Amino acid sequence: MTELNRRTVLTAAAAGAAAALTPAGTKSVEAAMPLQGKQNPGWYRYKVGDYEVTVVTDGAATFPLPEKFVANASKDQVAGELAKHHLDPTKLTVPFTPIVINTGSKLVLLDTGYGEDAAKKENATTGQVGANLKAAGIDPAKIDTVIISHFHGDHVNGLLTSDKKLAYPNAEVMVPVVEWKYWMDDGEMSRAPEGRMQGLFKSNRAVFDAINRKVTQYEWNKEVIPGMTAIGTPGHTPGHTSYVLSSGNGKLFIQSDVTNVPFLFVSNPGWHAGYDQDGGMAETTRRKTYDMVVAEKLPVQGFHYPFPGLGHVEKAGDGYRLVPMPWNPVI
Ligand SMILES: [Zn+2]
Repeated sequence: MTELNRRTVLTAAAAGAAAALTPAGTKSVEAAMPLQGKQNPGWYRYKVGDYEVTVVTDGAATFPLPEKFVANASKDQVAGELAKHHLDPTKLTVPFTPIVINTGSKLVLLDTGYGEDAAKKENATTGQVGANLKAAGIDPAKIDTVIISHFHGDHVNGLLTSDKKLAYPNAEVMVPVVEWKYWMDDGEMSRAPEGRMQGLFKSNRAVFDAINRKVTQYEWNKEVIPGMTAIGTPGHTPGHTSYVLSSGNGKLFIQSDVTNVPFLFVSNPGWHAGYDQDGGMAETTRRKTYDMVVAEKLPVQGFHYPFPGLGHVEKAGDGYRLVPMPWNPVI
């Protein structure tokens, strides 16, 4: 029996590298399977009471760690936190995770991902919702409601196909009234700073103009669809919205972007992501929301949590900790 210690583990790795250099024919006679180099479709299903939730990933974006990803923490602090989570401290991977809710009478998509255009880019790693819906056996034409949590590209751009048609041709598009009012207000647009904010106003309007601004506006603290109540969680954007989904004994908190990636912001709720429009308000919302889900022991579905984005939040030190829900083969 091989003794397990640091030295045997390190030597084993070296032996593996040497074996790869052994001339053909001296190893196994079995032909190796070519490396596939491609991930499997990303969808995952679970129940909330009588409702069925299908998590459908849009993929993830990986980019070099920006100088100022967190407005009030240094790049070194952020890199340190990544290393603490056994992640590459030089880059960041942000997943995008829409869900489909089947209530039995309604088929609802919550947020859309980046859309078909993103999927067509070279070496695309986002825009996968279409392919993953198909893999999960969900026909986009059968989706009768698309609910948008807030107006950022990873949540709204997938409303459109590449030819600028509604990707869910039979769906009613529902948007938070506060969010709609803000982004469609010409005064707000004229006062918005150049760069990212101006870009967001333009791209949001391009998306909604393509569907002739045909949307249904929904209010906070009311049901958007039977069993799902919209909860105002502003700060990330002025009308940023989360949801409580209830059916029978089942309850789920859908946080949207109350935090970006949990390995940075669940453990450091005081950190302000550069994407948070009002960092202070987003932090107040985050602490209030997490204190509530901890007290209620509510499972949380997070748009930027690692796939499938489902877990429980616990108190840990000055912040919180995400405990991912174990994979379950039983729906
Ligand atoms: Zn987002």
